[in-house]
Amino acid sequence: MHPAEKYNSIRRIIFSGVHKHGFDEALKWLEATYRSQLDLTHYRGLKAELAFYREYRQELQLTVAGDMGEHADFSGLHQGQVCRFDVTTNLAYKDFSTYEPFMGEGPQYKIALLSESNFEVIDVLDLAFKPCTDCGGHLVPCVALLNQNYNERGEAQWSNDQLLIDVCTGCQQYFERTRFTTTGMFSPQEVFDSLGDHEDSVSAINARQDHMLNAYRYFRPAADANLMALAEHSYKVTERDGGGYWAFRMVFKNKAIAAELADEIECSHEL
Ligand SMILES: [Zn+2]
Repeated sequence: MHPAEKYNSIRRIIFSGVHKHGFDEALKWLEATYRSQLDLTHYRGLKAELAFYREYRQELQLTVAGDMGEHADFSGLHQGQVCRFDVTTNLAYKDFSTYEPFMGEGPQYKIALLSESNFEVIDVLDLAFKPCTDCGGHLVPCVALLNQNYNERGEAQWSNDQLLIDVCTGCQQYFERTRFTTTGMFSPQEVFDSLGDHEDSVSAINARQDHMLNAYRYFRPAADANLMALAEHSYKVTERDGGGYWAFRMVFKNKAIAAELADEIECSHEL
């Protein structure tokens, strides 16, 4: 099981525990059984989700989201409007003044910011992004799931890299921020190809979709609390002779920014 699948299955177990046995029991499970199976970022993320759910479940009429592509931690009601809520502890509140609220076509989207030390809710904020210094557009964090690594002799390294990039909604430049190397986190195309030989291509499409949802949930706390999209690195043929270009192609977009974010961003072959 790759790390993203594992994280999501633990999240499901914990929330199902809340619904069947209450918060105290679920927190006990988290500490006794699952804490050691999670890295610190994901452990804190889950603790924060539980704390937010416990405190606001009734007031905001929260339901747990996540398995069906809702792209948020919870959905609920805020001032009479249907909202999606993401919970985070890893945004610095004092830096938040440098972000601009995002006014898009998508659903209302809020970030619940909790204290890293005691998991108390500090504030509930509008979805916000840093402005692009070149054009004033919004910088939207995306993770590109790259294909398997090969060394200079062409030997498979049994690992994949993932790139955290900011993509501008205005000038469509991208800015590289962090590179991750993960074992077992395949690119969407690799997942599809591994199942694509079967006549039933529906299962390959579903597996690819599940893979992307798992990867999205995994990287949102791990890469950026405001992660909004996943991309793959692919070559697009535009000429008869095979000529074309390399691009980050968006394979998954959060509905909140879907209309604003380009479907592909040109990039180089070597990343
Ligand atoms: Zn820009």
